[in-house]
Amino acid sequence: MMRCSQCHGPAHTRSSCEMSITTKERYYQCQNINCGHTFVCHETFIRSISVPHNINHVQAHPTVTESQCVLPM
Ligand SMILES: [Zn+2]
Repeated sequence: MMRCSQCHGPAHTRSSCEMSITTKERYYQCQNINCGHTFVCHETFIRSISVPHNINHVQAHPTVTESQCVLPM
């Protein structure tokens, strides 16, 4: 949620598009019915707080539906 730069009311995301791995563009619409301002913002990665390390990579489990799971007896 962003605040509208015109009336300072809440504005909600209407759509978004990934511009790069670190930047997303969002279209916002002000929720104040007397304003209705629509605008564009960029959401950008700034810095890491903690970075994972010493990871032992594994294969993800194959996707199965519940009916395909074998239950232990
Ligand atoms: Zn507004």
